[in-house]
Amino acid sequence: MNNDKKRRLGSVLPLLLVPVLLISIITFFMNSSSKEKELTYYDVVEMFRNDKIDSYELNLSSGVLTYQLRDEKVQRKYSVPSISLFYEDVHDYVVEYNKTHADTPVQYNYKAGSSNSWLLSLLPTMICIGVLAVLMFVMTRRMNQSIMSESNRTMSFGKARVRKNEGGKKVTFADVAGADEEKEELSEIVEFLKDSEKYNALGARIPKGVLLVGPPGTGKTLLAKAVAGEANAPFLSISGSDFLEMYVGVGASRVRDLFAQAKKSAPAIIFIDEIDAVGRHRGAGMGGGHDEREQTLNQMLVEMDGFVENEGVIVIAATNRPDILDPALLRPGRFDRQITVGYPDIKGRVEILKVHARNKSLAPDVNLEDIARSTVGFTGADLENLLNEAALLSARKGLKAITKSEIEEATIKVVVGTEKKSHKISDKEKRITAYHEAGHAIATHFLEGQDPVHQVSIVPRGMAGGYTMSLPLEDKLYRSKKYMEDDIVTLLGGRVAEKIVFDDITTGASNDIERASEMARNMVTKYGMSDNLGPITFGSGHNEVFLGKDYGTVRNYSEEIAKDIDEEVRSIISTAYQRCESLLKEHRDKLDELAEYLIKNEKIDGVDFEKLMNGTLDKGVDDHA
Ligand code: ADP
Ligand code: MG
Ligand code: ZN
Repeated sequence: MNNDKKRRLGSVLPLLLVPVLLISIITFFMNSSSKEKELTYYDVVEMFRNDKIDSYELNLSSGVLTYQLRDEKVQRKYSVPSISLFYEDVHDYVVEYNKTHADTPVQYNYKAGSSNSWLLSLLPTMICIGVLAVLMFVMTRRMNQSIMSESNRTMSFGKARVRKNEGGKKVTFADVAGADEEKEELSEIVEFLKDSEKYNALGARIPKGVLLVGPPGTGKTLLAKAVAGEANAPFLSISGSDFLEMYVGVGASRVRDLFAQAKKSAPAIIFIDEIDAVGRHRGAGMGGGHDEREQTLNQMLVEMDGFVENEGVIVIAATNRPDILDPALLRPGRFDRQITVGYPDIKGRVEILKVHARNKSLAPDVNLEDIARSTVGFTGADLENLLNEAALLSARKGLKAITKSEIEEATIKVVVGTEKKSHKISDKEKRITAYHEAGHAIATHFLEGQDPVHQVSIVPRGMAGGYTMSLPLEDKLYRSKKYMEDDIVTLLGGRVAEKIVFDDITTGASNDIERASEMARNMVTKYGMSDNLGPITFGSGHNEVFLGKDYGTVRNYSEEIAKDIDEEVRSIISTAYQRCESLLKEHRDKLDELAEYLIKNEKIDGVDFEKLMNGTLDKGVDDHA
């Protein structure tokens, strides 16, 4: 490396000498014609003062003074260092002379240099600048090649920092597991990119923009890449948040550049990730008015309107906040097609797990279907993370394969954050948590139709002091009124158990209570499940999507109805509370048993929980704990 640098410097040094030589040659050449012998500035001024000058001419741009002495026929030249100074030094004498010698005045003509001599005088400077520019170019090129190639960055501001599909491995639809509907909708785009002629011949209009909407980690970026991969088209991607770090005007110019590049390499895909970062409802930004983001957004709209349909460029954007997008973006001819990328269902989860388990060695006791069943609400990214965590755990333990226990450990890690075994909790806290979680678990267990308890733990994780996880046997599309009422009972289980056992309550149940209240309110206002109020939706159900405002629900009912709603919600909650209370009192023995078990062992899994409920758990085993 060091040697390399020296060699490079060695080849640059002679180049540096070139301008120096050139300048000295040129100035020597020019001076030799303008000066015969060494004259100082004062010599020249003296000649004026002593009335030796017959005529002269001063070039105002080059400062070259051409003069002729009275007793000479030849013209001489002198380069004046400062024209204004010279003017001051000489002017009075010239005026004075002209007054007294009105018959033969000195030619007093400061000449505003002809373009020719002006250019000539600039010549050395220009050559110098030119040579330096060439040198700079050569040197930066070399630096770019050596240094920049390492970090793959461009120095240019206005250029879009585009990530093209890395030549290496191509993403295809096969890499996107599940998501069959999404893939189906996008396959049309793929077809178009592959064979735009066919569509043009038929006069079919292909959307310019597709908006992928879905929570983070559900595979939006992956899908966009897969479209490019399937169509074998270049994938130019930029993230909305990239624009935010830019100087004024740069965002807009990057957008311009991005579209220009795409058009050049059409058919191509432009992918704008996190479009909400720039595409936010205008005027809603901080500071309001014409900020940078707004300019960028405007440029984006201009570009999208500017390219003709079927030009072979398709813009795919992704967001998880379609509600805050500027409505202008969603107008026809822009992102007029939306594809919702949702959480994977159980089948999708199995497929995703299969994709990410491909290059991992799993022990025979690992069943991907079981994992899928216990990971409702996991995104593709969560599942990938889960398998990766499990692999890391196995590696740390020095195992040859990932076993079921690492999978379980990793699942919980992904769900509730990192385990905090070190956090010391007092015995009293532990007791309260144990009864709280036992309350949830017992209520869940003794309510028919609730999912079986999968795990109960009082080891604090993340924000939660403990947790009770139940394991759904299948994904539910609809939930019945009875099921929701039972859900509220299990949510209240923690609070009720605290009240029964300690005759006191804690703040630990605040999240439970919040969720229970929300569920009860939704039952009344959203699902029309109240007998008294009937099947009416109160407040507009949807969250005012596309108005771009976060106003929540709009109230469209009277004060009186509002009171009735509150009444209904309260009645649902208090009925559930009473049911929970009698349930836990009835099974107080099991509640105590489970709480004691938790205090001792901190955790119980589904199988042992069932045994404990049946009274078949061999508790002697756990006494050592
Ligand atoms: P998003 O852009 O929606 O936030 P990404 O596309 O970045 O999500 O997904 C993150 C990672 O999650 C992907 O790189 C991939 O490993 C995994 N992933 C997400 N969805 C899927 C899927 N359907 N099939 C396979 N892997 C997926
Ligand atoms: Mg993404
Ligand atoms: Zn709770």
